[in-house]
Amino acid sequence: MHRDTLENYLNQLLEISRFEDYCPNGLQVEGRENIQKIVTGVTASRALLEAAVADHADTILVHHGYFWRGEDARITGMKACRLNTLITNKINLFAYHLPLDCHTELGNNAQLAKRLEFIETGRFGGQNIVVHGELAIPMHLNGLSEKISQVLEREPLVIGNPGQIIRRIAWCTGAAQGYFEAAIAHNVDAYLTGEISEQTVHAARESGVALIAAGHHATERYGVQALGEHLSEKFAIQHQFIDIDNPV
Ligand SMILES: [Zn+2]
Repeated sequence: MHRDTLENYLNQLLEISRFEDYCPNGLQVEGRENIQKIVTGVTASRALLEAAVADHADTILVHHGYFWRGEDARITGMKACRLNTLITNKINLFAYHLPLDCHTELGNNAQLAKRLEFIETGRFGGQNIVVHGELAIPMHLNGLSEKISQVLEREPLVIGNPGQIIRRIAWCTGAAQGYFEAAIAHNVDAYLTGEISEQTVHAARESGVALIAAGHHATERYGVQALGEHLSEKFAIQHQFIDIDNPV
């Protein structure tokens, strides 16, 4: 398919114009016009680019791309190396940040909820990025923690009473620990996100709302994968998700 067709389709599907983001969403680096093979991944790190080159991909689609607000604008060092790899190999880089967190079917939050059997009842936070809902089956915090570690294949960091029953939960993938207090105000029993900060541990202890840090990378692997699978079915292009492990 033509690169422009893919870009228009993705920009509309993910409603990028609705978002005020910290990076450009859409095509970030232009490569070949004709797209046949897409590699998806969480972050456009050098390891992902090299894996995509070895896989003969013409397009990379990620959640964390480049050109973040406030970063050094110069193309030097690691950034030059990454961009050189893309340009030399004529690989397109597409990146979708907040639009990919928020999409109601293919987004990170929706895909994580599907795997952990959370039922959405509403959203809150800036640009409605945080989701609240219920567990399909209420369980003790330690049961939920075990389930998360099985599904994500990674041990979560959990602050709370293991015997506490969790019925209502709020969640937001990635580094969304800043929404913990807003989650507490939504009367949930637990809040799940990717990362944790020193002060949020005290907030969890003092509020009685459990805090689960299940991994920034681990919680954000599913949106881009679902999007890649969707594109491959819709447009008959090849798709491969490449997981570059990250302990955070
Ligand atoms: Zn993220």
